[in-house]
Amino acid sequence: MKIICIGRNYKEHIRELNHSMPEKPLFFFKPDTCLLPQGNPFYYPEFSNEIHYEAEIVVRINKVGKTIGERFAKNYYSEIGFGLDLTARDIQRYEIDNSLPWTLSKTFDYSCPISRFYNISEFGDNVQDLNFKLFQNGELVQSSNTSDMIFSIDHLISYISKYITLKVGDLIFTGTPKGVGEINISDKLEGYIENTKVLDLEIK
Ligand code: MG
Repeated sequence: MKIICIGRNYKEHIRELNHSMPEKPLFFFKPDTCLLPQGNPFYYPEFSNEIHYEAEIVVRINKVGKTIGERFAKNYYSEIGFGLDLTARDIQRYEIDNSLPWTLSKTFDYSCPISRFYNISEFGDNVQDLNFKLFQNGELVQSSNTSDMIFSIDHLISYISKYITLKVGDLIFTGTPKGVGEINISDKLEGYIENTKVLDLEIK
């Protein structure tokens, strides 16, 4: 399986990092060694001093597809989860300044803590109208709604599949809203989709 991460998909987040607005979806990959299943702590690595959380809605592909028309994209997923696209922001700044790919900043081990997956119907019938939130030590740090995405999930699936075949089990991290910030050792992070707590993560 592959993990596809969308960058710059919420306007307010693009503004907070002083990035430019994308004309087309921007995406990158993480290997499966990034996955950290719900219940495991994240151990802060020694190679960064500034790891940020990025709360994201994650879509799981359930059917093989290539060049999927946007209006058929809904047939390729039925489950969503909640994940963190952990990012070594200090390394990413170096990569951006030197026109390097976002590899070391994004693809280190366990940089994708992830919830279990839920049928979309558990949260209503519209995947583009879902509230999601992240709390850090009990304080609300990110709160958004999937209606604020620049590129919808169906558009992303159609766009990505023009270039790359999607396979069963592939995950798409759909981008983070504003409010990204640093994690610290001994933090407790809690993720919600609507009113359901879906992720509990301890930083060690
Ligand atoms: Mg992200």
